[in-house]
Amino acid sequence: MEDLELPRPVVVLSPHLDDAVLSCAHALAASPGSIVVTVFAGAPEIHHRGYNSRTTGRTYAPDALEVRRREDRTALAALGARPVWIDLLDADYAEHRGERPYTDVVRETLARTLSTLAPGTVLLPLGLWHDDHVLVATSALALALALGVETVLYLDLPYGLALPDLVEARLSALSRRCELHEIAIGAGVDVDKDALMRHYESQYRATRRNARRAFTQTMRGGERYWRVTRRPPTGTEAASATPDPGPVGS
Ligand SMILES: [Zn+2]
Repeated sequence: MEDLELPRPVVVLSPHLDDAVLSCAHALAASPGSIVVTVFAGAPEIHHRGYNSRTTGRTYAPDALEVRRREDRTALAALGARPVWIDLLDADYAEHRGERPYTDVVRETLARTLSTLAPGTVLLPLGLWHDDHVLVATSALALALALGVETVLYLDLPYGLALPDLVEARLSALSRRCELHEIAIGAGVDVDKDALMRHYESQYRATRRNARRAFTQTMRGGERYWRVTRRPPTGTEAASATPDPGPVGS
């Protein structure tokens, strides 16, 4: 498989504080100086009982997210990458997201962020299973293609390894509107993903417990990437073609 050299700067969109390293450690190791944008890295100013408080031991939401941000900073430093944290709220805090449809909020925020960072390459999740991942995937794919930058999808790990049917369904839905080519990135780069993931101390055991076999495979690699280009319009399609590939659900 072709091992693609990514135009820089490389921006990896990570729904949560750990997804980029779980899913793209080899790509990050192959492109030092990459920027990892974590989309749902914010917290409402409340005491809360949910996933983030359970895993971090902090009930005050900003404290819980501060724990997770510290972990992210350390793990990314080990890869020579730098974090950008967006203050959007993950699904744990969904009831505090406000009145506006969050799809609009995410799309507008990502548009501003990408315009500021001016990436040469955007890596974004295939968008499996978790609502937050789907939200980032659908918004970011349209934006990255509209910007005309190198656009690469990554397999959401570890869940992508546990849900092969869902991966196929998503790829099939996407390939109706885009050209997808599976590529290798950083395949020859030596990465100790288990050591990197142990920096995410609050998440390591919880993630492993959720998908034990897939997690073990993920620690050994398990990464997959697809280069995305627009499908050129042909014949009658050309007349009605829209410039935006739009949300592509599975
Ligand atoms: Zn995630």
